[in-house]
Order: sequence, then structure tokens, then C-alpha cells
Amino acid sequence: MTIATESLIENLLTEIKPSVSQALNTVLSGNDLSYQHILDLLCVSNKDLIAVLLSADYLRYKVNGDKVSYVVNRNINFTNVCIKRCGFCAFSRDFRHEQQSYFLPIDEVVRRAKQAWDLGATEVCIQAGLPPKMDGDLYVNITEAIKRDIPDIHIHGFSPEEILYGSQRSKSTIKEYLIRLKDAGVGSLPGTSAEILEQDVRNKIAPGRITKNQWIDVIRTAHDIGIKTSATMMYGHVETNENIASHILEIRNIQKTTHGFTEFVPLSFVHEEAPMNTSGIFSNINLGPSALKVMLVHAVSRLSLINHINNIQVSWVKEGHMMSQILLSCGVNDMGGTLINESISTSAGAKHGQLTSPKVLKSLITEVNKFPVERNSIYKEIDSNGRNYPLDVVENPDKEFGSYFELVNSKSFRYKHPNK
Ligand code: SF4
Repeated sequence: MTIATESLIENLLTEIKPSVSQALNTVLSGNDLSYQHILDLLCVSNKDLIAVLLSADYLRYKVNGDKVSYVVNRNINFTNVCIKRCGFCAFSRDFRHEQQSYFLPIDEVVRRAKQAWDLGATEVCIQAGLPPKMDGDLYVNITEAIKRDIPDIHIHGFSPEEILYGSQRSKSTIKEYLIRLKDAGVGSLPGTSAEILEQDVRNKIAPGRITKNQWIDVIRTAHDIGIKTSATMMYGHVETNENIASHILEIRNIQKTTHGFTEFVPLSFVHEEAPMNTSGIFSNINLGPSALKVMLVHAVSRLSLINHINNIQVSWVKEGHMMSQILLSCGVNDMGGTLINESISTSAGAKHGQLTSPKVLKSLITEVNKFPVERNSIYKEIDSNGRNYPLDVVENPDKEFGSYFELVNSKSFRYKHPNK
């Protein structure tokens, strides 16, 4: 692939816009893209677009070869009750509407983690809403309870928003709180609640959410004490290309000093059930990115982060299986996790299911001539030769694992407000 692709790119560079050619020459010769380069690459079309996608694919190959990784994991979103009102979030329920609010007790969280472990999962991803008057020790208690029963499972848990809330509720500093979680057994943090790291945009789509500076503070502190995190960006709503370029540069700047990000995950806005779409408050909101923009954002992410973050992940929940396969030729090298109980995108209207089994992930990867590799949460390869996944043969996942819709509609784990 390399020699043929190199000469193809070389020829293309002579035929495209000088600004795009200059940006691609910069990154292909090993240097970092500037803000202006990133902006130029986000606006391309025609031959320029082909040159950008091909260059991202080429650099993906140089870093990752043709290996595409995935992790066997389960999401446990233990409550949908939340004191915040993020405009893109259809998952959360107002605590005053108990008829659709649920709260899983700790023993149920542990049962779900144990079930996933027995089915071959190596990770549980734990995130939820922010329930009012929460016990500040809750996240620590959940972590300790899981680790007591399953010491070897990796806990990828608690977004920066939750870390901030936990620290406030337990009257400790962010650092003290993170140290407690690390001691309890949290292995890494999801870098969610980033959306777009521009305060103006955050004030529009999620006023009252963790601020840009607070997000950076939690992430830098986690990295400083040795907790790795992912990095995300949600786009396709009200942001501009300038916002996207600044966000990616913010992530790169953090990584240059901390080296604590494991991957970058661009996340398409899912609009169908999002309150900022259904309420009609916004007149000029984009209803998610176009397919072209999705390809471009993944490719430009690879090109912008090339010397700093080795892994660009596609979210199959947001993009679907077919688009995920296409993105494996646009700079992406990781398919994320099996998830088992995806709730957040599903509740917002994503139609791609709550589980993708290891067998299906592997065949999606091999169908586009790449090599599937199971990884752990911090991107170490797991030798899965001959490994059987009981998860592959579960016939009725909704019945076996329960679904988000069942949780919001059943009385089994109904949330009770602490004042009642
Ligand atoms: S995104 Fe998180 S913080 Fe915002 S409303 Fe939803 S659950 Fe709450």
C-alpha cells in the first residue's frame, strides 16, 4: 500500500489548492498542523477532499498498520436522573418525573458487571446522570463494590462532569476525589462532557454544564495522578469549523504536556429526540453532520493529532456499521466497544442498536480488509486467538441484558427522590 499511496498523494498534491497542499505537505513531513491548516482542511471538496482522506488513511497505516482494535465491554448507565438540562441529552429525566426515572442499586450494578465479565468483557464503562442530593461517596462505593467481586475488570468510569459533581458533593478537591477513585479501582475516565471546548458554544447547547476550564482541570488532574482518559468532541449542531479546529488544538495542547489521552473520538450529534431540537428553541441548529463532514472530521482529527494521539475511534452507535467501515479508510483505527447496554445515543434517536457482538465487530473489520485485534481499555493488545465469547451466542440481548426502554418503563428500579 505504502509506495503506491505515496505516489498517488504526491501527484494529487500538485493538482490541488495551494493552501490544502501546503497543509498536507506539513503533516506528511512530520510536522504539526497549525490552526489555519486545520481550518483549511475542514473546508475541502472534490480533489482536495480526496487528498485529505487519502493522507489521513496513509498516516493511519503508518501508525497502526492495518490492525483495527475493539474492546469487549458493557455500559452501565446506573441512573437517568439528572439535575442538568443539556440541550442535546434525551437520556436524562427530570427528578420530578419519577414515572420514567430509574436508579440501579449498587448490587444491581455489580450484577451487571459480573454478567458482562462472565460473557468475556474486560471493561465496564460507568456513567450516568447527576441525581439531586447525591451521596458524594456513591462513585467510590460503586467502584469498590465492583472491584470486590471482580478485581480484574477495568473500570472506565465517571465523566469529568461526574468527577466535578462527586467532588462537590463530598466537599473535596478534584484531585482528592480522583485519588480516592483511583485507590478504589477506577482505571480510566471517559473524556465525555467535552462536546465543544468553547464556552460560547457550551452556553448555547448546555448552559450550566461543566465549563470548558473545569473540564480541562479535571482531565489534567486525572492525567497528572496517572489516570488515563479518552478525549471526545460532539459536533454537527451549532458549532463552526473554527470551533472544531480550536477544540482539536485544545486536546492536542493538553496531550503535549500530559500524554494522558488514549484516543480521540469524534461524536456526531444525534438530533431526533434531543430537547434542543424537539423544543424548537433553536432556529438554526444543524441536525447532525452530513456524511461528508463525518468523513472529513475523522480524517482531519487523524491529521491534526498524528504526532500525539495514536488512536482515532469511530462510534458505531452514532455512525452505524456501514459508515464505521467507511471511516476505517478515513484515518480511523478503532471500533470502540461492544457496549451491550448503550442507552445515551439510543435514547436520543440513534438507530444502530445497544450491542455489537465481538463476532460482528470482527467481521465488520475483516470485510474491509483490515485485521481485527482485541484490546484492553488502555490499548494493549489482548491475545484473543481461540478465545470464545459467550456474548457471540446470546440470542435475545434485550431479554438477557434489559434495554434502556425497559428500564424507563418498568417499575423495578424506579427512582425515589431523597425528600420523599
Ligand atoms: S448530558 Fe449528562 S449532565 Fe447533561 S443532562 Fe444528560 S445526563 Fe445530565
